[in-house]
Amino acid sequence: MAGQNPFGIAGLLGWPVAHSRSPVIHNHWLAHYGIPGRYVLFPVPPEKLEAAVRGIAALGLRGCNVITPHQQAIFPLLDRVDDLARRIGAVNTVVVEKDGTLTGFNNDGNGFIQSLRDADPKWGPDSGPILVLGAGGAARAVVTSLAAQGAKEVRLTNRTLDKAREIANAVGPIVKVLPWEQREDALDGVALLANATGLGMAGKPPLELSLNRLPKGALVGDLIYIPPETPLLAAARMRGNITVNGLALLLNQARPAFNAWFGVMPDITPAPRQAIAATF
Ligand code: NAP
Repeated sequence: MAGQNPFGIAGLLGWPVAHSRSPVIHNHWLAHYGIPGRYVLFPVPPEKLEAAVRGIAALGLRGCNVITPHQQAIFPLLDRVDDLARRIGAVNTVVVEKDGTLTGFNNDGNGFIQSLRDADPKWGPDSGPILVLGAGGAARAVVTSLAAQGAKEVRLTNRTLDKAREIANAVGPIVKVLPWEQREDALDGVALLANATGLGMAGKPPLELSLNRLPKGALVGDLIYIPPETPLLAAARMRGNITVNGLALLLNQARPAFNAWFGVMPDITPAPRQAIAATF
């Protein structure tokens, strides 16, 4: 943008925001690549979202991430929303374009898929049936992105079945909805098991799921990153499955955002993971 602030500022819009590890990642990369700038937290209550978004370009920000409860509410405040984010129904990244207009994206699902590819280069969304647990915002991003990248069969189960049905209706017939009670049967023959519920997170109830029927070659991904290894991932690792945690997702969704804001596609090295681990 003409007259762009050489000190690049990006941040996180949410309510609350204090728990986020995104500042650790982006500030690590800014320092690593010698880019003058800062990633900051913006706690914005719902009634102030419109004023805050109007200020993004005026203040010279490069863009921001968006978390709960603003991921849907921000749609009408943006100049455009890319097709995948529109299909997901949520924005997690905003980029200020050269002309000062605002574009919304959603990198969560693609970040998750990339973290799986990084862990097992032989795996792809079309490698075999996928079981996704959960039907909240994160599950919707994951299922929509898996479908966009060629998944042939996604088994979707959730405690509240109507929410899973809504995702299936939006994404299409590759999504087969199963009652929550059938989640262990649904493990038969899967190439990927993905936990997109909050179960197993620190302070939340455990995920009750026997892995007896999970194929040994299946990948297991958990979107949770606190703790870094959930009981699900520990159990899967013990029986020989390749596992991926939510930190890998967080890093992979951050990469394209950093590139859009600061002009460098960062590498995922052990250093940002260690910086985050130090915050636990
Ligand atoms: P959400 O919209 O609140 O959805 C929560 C999901 O968990 C729903 O499917 C919900 O089922 C299920 N759930 C909660 N308590 C349950 C229980 N007692 N029994 C069965 N199911 C239960 O949250 P979200 O935004 O989708 O996030 C889901 C998880 O992904 C969270 O742990 C979040 O931290 C993680 N996440 C991580 C990243 C990352 O960067 N690593 C990004 C996004 C999300 P109902 O529909 O029945 O309530």
